[in-house]
Amino acid sequence: MLARRSFLRMVGGSAGLLVAAPALVGLGAGAHSRWAGRDPFSLGVASGSPASDGFVLWTRLAPDPLSADPDLPGGIEMARGDIDIIYEIATDPAMREIVRRGTATAEAAFAHSVHLEVGGLASNRPYWYRFTSGEASSRIGCARTAPAAGAPLDQLRFGFVSCSNYEEGYFSAYRHLADENPDLVFFLGDYIYEYVNPYDRVRAHSDEVEARTLPTYRNRYAQYRLDADLQRLHAVAPSLVTWDDHEIQNDYGGEWSENFDEPDVFLERRSAGYRAFYEHMPLRPSLSRPKGERMRIYDRFAYGDLAEFSLIDGRQYRSRAACYIPPDGGGFHMENDESCPERRDRTRTMLGMPQEAWLYKGLAQSKTRWNVIAQNMMMAEFAEEQKGGDLRFSTDDWNGYPESRARLLRQIEKSRVANPVVLSGDMHSFWTNDLKLDPAAPVIATEFITSSITSGCAPDYYERHLQHNPHVRFMESQKRGYASVDLTPERMTTRYQAVSDVHDPNATVATLETFVIENGRAGAVGA
Ligand code: FE
Ligand code: CA
Repeated sequence: MLARRSFLRMVGGSAGLLVAAPALVGLGAGAHSRWAGRDPFSLGVASGSPASDGFVLWTRLAPDPLSADPDLPGGIEMARGDIDIIYEIATDPAMREIVRRGTATAEAAFAHSVHLEVGGLASNRPYWYRFTSGEASSRIGCARTAPAAGAPLDQLRFGFVSCSNYEEGYFSAYRHLADENPDLVFFLGDYIYEYVNPYDRVRAHSDEVEARTLPTYRNRYAQYRLDADLQRLHAVAPSLVTWDDHEIQNDYGGEWSENFDEPDVFLERRSAGYRAFYEHMPLRPSLSRPKGERMRIYDRFAYGDLAEFSLIDGRQYRSRAACYIPPDGGGFHMENDESCPERRDRTRTMLGMPQEAWLYKGLAQSKTRWNVIAQNMMMAEFAEEQKGGDLRFSTDDWNGYPESRARLLRQIEKSRVANPVVLSGDMHSFWTNDLKLDPAAPVIATEFITSSITSGCAPDYYERHLQHNPHVRFMESQKRGYASVDLTPERMTTRYQAVSDVHDPNATVATLETFVIENGRAGAVGA
């Protein structure tokens, strides 16, 4: 026990990893049982939250990953309590040079998931890791530490992805991104889809029900994590994760559901969805362990002197959608200043005022060459022509919160943030946008939106509005895939990678388009 403690960085004062659950206080590791049954590592491994001296290592014990019995999540009795397994960290892929070995706790309260915060490692290098229990051994994963704050860094490669609907296709895009061996991967939301669609699918959500309870959300994540391509992507690089709506419910915002549930009823559902997200993601327990219906996932990651990433949460804290009026105003609807003056209310916020303040302060203090905001939904203004000719805006993305967007862009301008770039998902299409305060104003930042891994987009849904939105430099709606970025002090090169066919499990990949931002020059240019 003491030897093990010395391995771990105790984060958050006395509330360290081993005593974080109240039920464990005072109990040594010997009080937890060990697992000696069937192979419990069906869901693979993941790493995340890279720091300069460590990262989070994740796994979840699930010998029967799609168990439908709510008392047996993953096939393990809840009543069995916490289970100790062994973790090992090595400096080589064959795991010969082990630098750490210790005990990690799979917590019964979190479906026997492990969130191990590791510290004290060397900066800016890969480490390999695995978990073992009895005869069973997990696959070997690769994690990476970040460079020390301010340390020179010449290059970084990262991918960003969104919208992987299991029913709509195969996850070849995840496989091809894994093949690129990125230093890190951003998951920008709609990692799962909560609903079922029996009419248009190549494979089924296994339980055939809309997820709305803890057992059904758990099984949705488990099914996705059984996918070999997704499992491999998590094993090859650290993941940084935020969410969008489908982790909980289509188009929800804050405590408001799209179908006008009472907030306290909806918050119960949200709690279940957030908890299942925590259980399946390599999040820092010291930051993200859920507290009732709240769970903080926004966080900041620095990579030496090259880049700082603000990973933000655009769902949990937002103000109620503008003109949230039954029967049609619950989720996404289209409004403008005449139809819905509330949209312009300055007290409304996309991020919640505390997260806005956190973001602005971080951006103002950053000393890195590039400053990336990674988040769930389109930030650029996008006017859509309605029948009859008037222009309206979505209430569900940043267009529903124009004053919040303007505050952010003014802050970026005012604090002279170096090379600001926004990464987004949700649109099921690739976009390169100029972010501006108004059409005649200079470009403040560039937004890159990655298409979906599989989720579809109706043809001509966005195309017919492009004439009203000259700040959109590029848009392609009929390709699925991912985005890959090569970052150096001189330039940011973003490649949109499109897969050949989401209905083909062996789909190939090709570069659809490449955009470059030169250091100090706002605006992306086609390469
Ligand atoms: Fe989506
Ligand atoms: Ca979405």
